Amino acid sequence: SRKFFVGGNWKMNGDKKSLGELIQTLNAGKVDPNVEVVCGAPSIYLDFARSKLDGKFGVAAQNCYKVAKGAFTGEISPAMIKDCGVNWVILGHSERRHVFGESDELIGQKTAHALENGLGVIACIGEKLDEREGGITEKVVFAQTKVIADNVKDWSKVVLAYEPVWAIGTGKTASPQGLAPWFQTRSRETESVAEDQRVRGRGSVTGGTCKELASQKDVDGFLVGGASLKPEFIDIINAKA
Ligand code: 13P
Repeated sequence: SRKFFVGGNWKMNGDKKSLGELIQTLNAGKVDPNVEVVCGAPSIYLDFARSKLDGKFGVAAQNCYKVAKGAFTGEISPAMIKDCGVNWVILGHSERRHVFGESDELIGQKTAHALENGLGVIACIGEKLDEREGGITEKVVFAQTKVIADNVKDWSKVVLAYEPVWAIGTGKTASPQGLAPWFQTRSRETESVAEDQRVRGRGSVTGGTCKELASQKDVDGFLVGGASLKPEFIDIINAKA
């Protein structure tokens, strides 16, 4: 069965001092052994995070490129991420899609390359507010998911995180009721995906809302932004305990 998964995405926040303090708090915290926890660190701090964080925490890069090496100024490869002892990468986050213009196709290529190189992938999907209001949520999310699914052979290495853009950093949380219908439709279409598929996500998960969310059907994890930089991340990790 799917293990409950809690990802923290630090985004472009913190420095060695503040992240070092956060890491100390996390290391001292109790972690439910039935939960897989992964912290997404800025690339320049991947080595730092991996060397300081206790082994009970996984570490993720927040992005990577689609090839192993070469003249791609500013990019990092899955091989470099692994060389820092880091085993996960977040791909297709809405900020990569919408602030940096990454296409579904590029995210698919990155997913293939990261998986080939042995990284676990936290693959993000989700519609924007105007898409939701325009009634094309399913179309957008299906298209995003299809390109990812076309590049996945082993779903045990993939966490699919549904994070509608309108729920990120806004205090609004996507309900499982909103999520479940499209996922169930899709599961029937792509049956091989369904069994080992892990869908997480939401946006704006906090220490205050996590317990209720975790108890809902079809929620088997979170990808947390702002609250993953605070001590309450420990409460979110243990939401199911
Ligand atoms: P918030 O938890 O800050 O809404 O961010 C969600 C997110 O984007 C995690 O990747």
